[in-house]
Amino acid sequence: MKILVVMGTRPEAIKLAPVVDALRRRKGLRTYVCATAQHRELLDQALALFGLKPDFDLDLMRAGQTPGAVAGRVTRSLGPLLGRLRPDMVVVQGDTTTAAAAALCAARRGIPVAHVEAGLRSFDFADPCPEELNRVLIDSIASLAFPPTPAARANLAREKPGGRLVIMTGNTVVDALRSAEGGKAPGRRPSREVLITLHRREIHGKPLRRIYKTLLELVRRHENLSFVYPVHPNPLILKTAKRLLRHPRIRLLAPQPYPDFLALLKRCLFVVTDSGGVQEEAVCLGKPVLVVREKTERPEVLSSGAGRLVGLDPQKLSFWTGRLLKDAALRRRMSRVRNPYGDGRASRRVAAGIAHWFGAGPKPGDWEP
Ligand code: UDP
Repeated sequence: MKILVVMGTRPEAIKLAPVVDALRRRKGLRTYVCATAQHRELLDQALALFGLKPDFDLDLMRAGQTPGAVAGRVTRSLGPLLGRLRPDMVVVQGDTTTAAAAALCAARRGIPVAHVEAGLRSFDFADPCPEELNRVLIDSIASLAFPPTPAARANLAREKPGGRLVIMTGNTVVDALRSAEGGKAPGRRPSREVLITLHRREIHGKPLRRIYKTLLELVRRHENLSFVYPVHPNPLILKTAKRLLRHPRIRLLAPQPYPDFLALLKRCLFVVTDSGGVQEEAVCLGKPVLVVREKTERPEVLSSGAGRLVGLDPQKLSFWTGRLLKDAALRRRMSRVRNPYGDGRASRRVAAGIAHWFGAGPKPGDWEP
């Protein structure tokens, strides 16, 4: 059986690398990797780290690209590839435009789709956009759905109770971070270091400028506070960050190799982020996390006690940063949480689920949180 795993961005490479590894360990499955390179630089950094060489590279990234244009290019390039390769299944992960366009392309040709990290919902097509649309579309198409958590599984059951194979696996991010530990955080450790990652479409423009001004006020107000911020290479983000975040205790870094980023996450007091993957990793590593989003599709971050949703409101961000800096007991409480994301065996369950779908092997059991 030929399996084609399609990925386009850094988080997809990180979360799919252990899946590709698990698939390649199974007899009877021949696994190919197709990179759309929706985000060239960040994808390549993650692929290199996991030693993943794409069998097909569509090299689709263009300056100033929109999700619609990416979807069009994926469809145009992937269609002919599916025609030539004739895979028996296409595997996608998460909620990117690459994943949605690849799922559609496969479904149009009658090729079954497997969705890793299925069932996440913010219940608002506008936030995050286009990710929520992408997830709903992929889940309505997928023949195999791998929700990471009970909440995600429940979302799938509500929307489409039958007609496909559903296995709750845990999140493959746990597998990825276990295999990438041992990195080195850049620079010396400042006394009170807070890690920042901010890049989502929803905050571009005015909200981002307001958040940056708040970070600047915070670092001026708290003498021993330092921010470390690996900045997303998107020019809209990078230019604004360089212009507004000028302070000796704000360190702007290039995107860090995954193990070094994890080392930064382990070293910091807490993290301020709008990234989905970073929220999950923070919870897994026992770091308090302030989520700069109005809505979340990751309720476990809040229900575990590790995270607070501060939205795009500068006052809330300021309040919670101040509290976390002052209140060591609160930090401890937010750090001592049970990992809601899995046991590090999610990728094996995905591979076993796919093998089972083709009649090779028993149905793997769900992950039990
Ligand atoms: N990440 C990384 N280096 C960095 C910043 C982030 O390797 O400098 C990783 C991070 O650990 C997480 C992933 O990139 O696994 C998150 O990617 P991103 O925030 O782009 O996407 P999202 O998770 O929001 O879809």
